[in-house]
Amino acid sequence: MGILALAGYASSCATPLERARALTRVPPIMTAPSVTTPIAVDPTVMDAASLPSVVGPLPYNGQADLHRAGILAEGAESSGEIALTFDDGPSAETTSEVLRILAAHKAKGAFFLTGRRLEGSSVVADMNRAMARAIVAAGHTLGNHGLDHFAVNKQDLAWNLLQIEESARLITDATGTPVRYFRPPYGKIGAAAQGILVSRRDELVMWTIDAQDTRETDPERLAARLIAQLMFAGQGIVLLHDLRGPSVRALSLLLDWLAAHPRDADKGTGYTVVDLPTYLSHAAARPWPYATRLELYHAREKLHAIERLASKPKRKQ
Ligand SMILES: [Zn+2]
Repeated sequence: MGILALAGYASSCATPLERARALTRVPPIMTAPSVTTPIAVDPTVMDAASLPSVVGPLPYNGQADLHRAGILAEGAESSGEIALTFDDGPSAETTSEVLRILAAHKAKGAFFLTGRRLEGSSVVADMNRAMARAIVAAGHTLGNHGLDHFAVNKQDLAWNLLQIEESARLITDATGTPVRYFRPPYGKIGAAAQGILVSRRDELVMWTIDAQDTRETDPERLAARLIAQLMFAGQGIVLLHDLRGPSVRALSLLLDWLAAHPRDADKGTGYTVVDLPTYLSHAAARPWPYATRLELYHAREKLHAIERLASKPKRKQ
């Protein structure tokens, strides 16, 4: 990372204390079976206003590479852009509340659905299918989170086809809408599943802002973690689970906080919620000078070390 990029990164952060707190909540680094080639950097693309607003042809990650998906998820540097994503649903009860909260804030999200929840003739499946249609009707993005929420890192092609293709079919049957985004359960993916995504031209989507909401029941603590991570990174893809009540309440708190910290493009401060296609198109248009998130984190750690050194009180001579 060049020093200019570091400076841009630093300017998007808040106080050193907040940044240090956020540093302790860095999302896990996922391992991938393959290695990406270095990402080309276009130095002429410098600010968010110059980024294209039109969504480009999918996918930005043609090889469904996990490293590439991870670095795309980091977004356009210092953009203040936030994509809200919701996994494991839908649920007639809690997803409807998420839709109400998003509508109240005029925000668009992406919902990575678990296909099995849409299958069958039960009343619950009927309600879940109706909720999937409500997601589309409200203008949000549909994503595929696999049929049974199994990790798609096995090598058995037929098994992976079932998990990915059958889930996509159920989502499309329920909504009448093709699904082009895939998020692997547990952030794991194997070569067979990668091959399926490549042939389907699906976009592999990871996340960067993760409050571990499947293990935490305090909405305020969840929201505080999300905010700390956002202040540290400057932008990011937020992961929440719309099946969980505390996560839904944390979303409300997060959006209230974001409303109080709107984006000021001139000053380069604040945040703006964008839909997932816009977020990814901007990330692809202004790539980080790293092939992997691990390299990015090493650069961030160096930045913090420099800041700590600079903020140490000088000894009296
Ligand atoms: Zn999940």
